[in-house]
Amino acid sequence: MEPRPWHSLTPEEVALYLETDLSRGLEARAAQERLTRFGPNRLPTGPRRGILARILDQFRDLLIYVLLATAGVSLALGEFVDAAVILAVVVINAIIGFVQESQAEAALEALKEMLSPKATVLRGGETEIIPAEELVPGDLIVLTAGAKVPADARVIWSKGLLTNEAALTGESLPVEKISDPLPEDTPLADRRNMIYSGTLALSGEGRAIVVATGAATEFGKIAQMMAGVEPPKTPLTRKLEIFSRKVTFVILVFAVFTFLLGYLRRLPFEESFMAAVALAVSAIPEGLPVIMTVALAIGVKRMARRGAIIRYLPSVETLGSTTVICTDKTGTLTRNEMTVTRIILADGRKLEVEGVGYAPQGRILMDGQPISVRQDQALYRLLLAGYLCNQASLIEKDGRWLVDGDPTEGALIVVARKAGLSEEERRHYPRIDLLPFDSDRQFMVSLHETKDGHLAFLKGAPEKVLQLCGQEAVAFFPQVEELARSGLRVLAVAEKDLTPPLTDEAVYSGGWRLLGLIGMMDPPRPEAMEAISLCHRAGIRVKMATGDHPLTAQAIGQLLGLKGEAIEGQRLEKLEEQKFSQVAAKTEIFARVTPAIKLRLVRALKGQGEIVAMTGDGVNDAPALKAADIGIAMGSGTDVAKEASDMVITDDNFASIVAAVEEGRTVFDNLRKTILFIFPTNGGECLILLGAIALATTLPVLPLHILWINLVTTVALAVALAFEPREDGVMDRPPRPPKAPLLEGYLISRMALVSFLMAALAWGGFEWWFKRSGQVTEARALAVNVIVFLEAFYLLNCRRLLAPVLSVGDLWQNRAVILGLLAIVLLQATFTYVPFFNRVFSVEPFAPWVWLVIMGAGLVFFLLIELEKTISRHLRRSR
Ligand code: ADP
Ligand code: MG
Repeated sequence: MEPRPWHSLTPEEVALYLETDLSRGLEARAAQERLTRFGPNRLPTGPRRGILARILDQFRDLLIYVLLATAGVSLALGEFVDAAVILAVVVINAIIGFVQESQAEAALEALKEMLSPKATVLRGGETEIIPAEELVPGDLIVLTAGAKVPADARVIWSKGLLTNEAALTGESLPVEKISDPLPEDTPLADRRNMIYSGTLALSGEGRAIVVATGAATEFGKIAQMMAGVEPPKTPLTRKLEIFSRKVTFVILVFAVFTFLLGYLRRLPFEESFMAAVALAVSAIPEGLPVIMTVALAIGVKRMARRGAIIRYLPSVETLGSTTVICTDKTGTLTRNEMTVTRIILADGRKLEVEGVGYAPQGRILMDGQPISVRQDQALYRLLLAGYLCNQASLIEKDGRWLVDGDPTEGALIVVARKAGLSEEERRHYPRIDLLPFDSDRQFMVSLHETKDGHLAFLKGAPEKVLQLCGQEAVAFFPQVEELARSGLRVLAVAEKDLTPPLTDEAVYSGGWRLLGLIGMMDPPRPEAMEAISLCHRAGIRVKMATGDHPLTAQAIGQLLGLKGEAIEGQRLEKLEEQKFSQVAAKTEIFARVTPAIKLRLVRALKGQGEIVAMTGDGVNDAPALKAADIGIAMGSGTDVAKEASDMVITDDNFASIVAAVEEGRTVFDNLRKTILFIFPTNGGECLILLGAIALATTLPVLPLHILWINLVTTVALAVALAFEPREDGVMDRPPRPPKAPLLEGYLISRMALVSFLMAALAWGGFEWWFKRSGQVTEARALAVNVIVFLEAFYLLNCRRLLAPVLSVGDLWQNRAVILGLLAIVLLQATFTYVPFFNRVFSVEPFAPWVWLVIMGAGLVFFLLIELEKTISRHLRRSR
């Protein structure tokens, strides 16, 4: 089974070499055997860099260089303890950073698994849907429009199979596939009888024999070359990184300045140097980048739990500022459990159908009397057409009835079964060709053999079908409206004698006989109704874009809480750009919408500065999904739509989109809380040092102390904020303008206030105890404890940006906070009382009663910040 020039062989030869069967595929046993031999059809994740290499990565940071240089100088000056502590802190920092980053990465990796693709294969003559990972060379795969090609394969049969190979060749024009052999020297890009893993099937159908899987595929070869490419950073993390780098630079300048200042004041070299280092170390927020990653990963995990899988990390942030959600109706806002309830025959008779759901039980009634289908040719033909022009199937599983395929078509099978039609009809009229449903065309045609010739069935949106049926049929429009007005999805059905082949020409040349109209009900999802009102509260507009009739759309829209009249796609399409924008902005219900209109809609809304989320499921939706700020694919949708999307909704439910927005806002809040928490620590320390150096007094805290403070507060405290659950009011405020600064003015002034209070209290405490006890070691121990415990109290303040945090029950909602506080108590006790630590940090315990003073100061500080919040809250409300 070695590689061969597959494209130059005939399908029979390929099958021979790969020991498979052109009509039955592989037998189950052979497939199993090959799976062990060739391994799973999965791209190797690339040589994952070793743990050591990834830990070393953590050292690539300007701050770390500064620290290492310091350690070097300390060593040269004979300060062995200092050098050792600095090194220890650097290593601990790196390990913690590494662990947190690995956890975040693992969480993101797990998401990819959740989206693992499926493949349709023929094995032992049966069609099966299996995880694409289980494909092996020799498998016979079946491709339909919208699927991702799961492995490299030789096409053995194609019916208009078009693929997009941009992922592989960069060429975005679709390629039509054939099954004939090609000359051996045909270059890869021109091998039209081969399909390649990672490319997409846009339309048509095809069958192919797998010739290579996993790393052996063309895509696998490229992927290996690119292995180890960094995961994308979000705009926010990138912005913060640049910001941190600037801060670091400014701080280094300050540090040099400090050194010179000390020198001018004739401090000993060593002391000036250590002061400069202390300043540098105090001011750089080294923990920030890691915490940002952790916060994003937690957000992504929470979204996955609520049914939304993020494919592109930056979307987490964008989601939080979404201003408009454009959503499909069918399946997203409604249950997508279609039931035929009304029928209008071509002769004008009106019928009703009993029963709900997919169970094929219920009678068909006319004027309240059951009607026998076998004796009613007109009704029989209508139901027959719906039954045969159909790609779905009805399955009974443990007493429950399920539809495999399009629910609209499932409903037609159910009503046919209610009338007594069965598999026998399908055998009587074997299907020989098909034009599948497509939301651009809005209808579907199938061609069948009969005893004495051929017969084609047509079903689709009434406007299209009635038009094809000619003049008299147009008189049926009032009937269509009657059905649509009661919220039913309406299909018109027709038939025509048609000899093969099934061409566009044959379809459009008229001569169709109308059989009747079918109305089906699809109830709205109750949770979608709630989600829409939640959106309205949160300042997010919801627009429904559906392929259905305007009256159907309007009836359902009203049930869901959408307002205004529905506008029809055709009318919208004719508007010139400016008018289009105006209408797009104010309309909430769009009907008979084609994918092209969806794209225009996205562009128009974006042009008005909106942040647009747009849903889609079909192949043709891909451009609109790409154009949207957040493209949302449905879990049940095509692979093509998923590839183009930023997020996939596993349960197709609108409520999950809103849940993701809610989580997106929470992530953003938590990032802001983290920044709000981290910067004042640095600010406070910086102020103390600058002051002490400017006044040339004894340093209240030493560089080593600052390293310690920064380490314990980021590790134990700051990380806890990434786990904050969402605030009550997240969906009660308007979306954050994407250009708005990360921190509003009041948050910046709060950070300044906190920095100042922290510096003042720590310094004050130091001076007070130094005077009282005459022991600088005790006074420094006090100063360090003051800073750390003020931080601990401040952490509680930071849990809410503006709201008060005084309720007690609240504390238990974030276990990370409680654990962090406990850890701080233990760490500070160690720092203050364990002799070894005392020696290393040159501190000594102060009198025990001083703890009361520290806690008292913490409490007052905490209340002051809460007071500031209250004032800010009132100021903002009055504005
Ligand atoms: P939606 O946005 O509601 O999913 P579609 O584009 O799927 O809209 O459907 C638009 C119209 O096309 C429907 O109102 C119906 O008349 C018709 N239609 C939908 N599904 C099918 C199908 N499988 N076969 C034929 N016609 C269909
Ligand atoms: Mg649809």
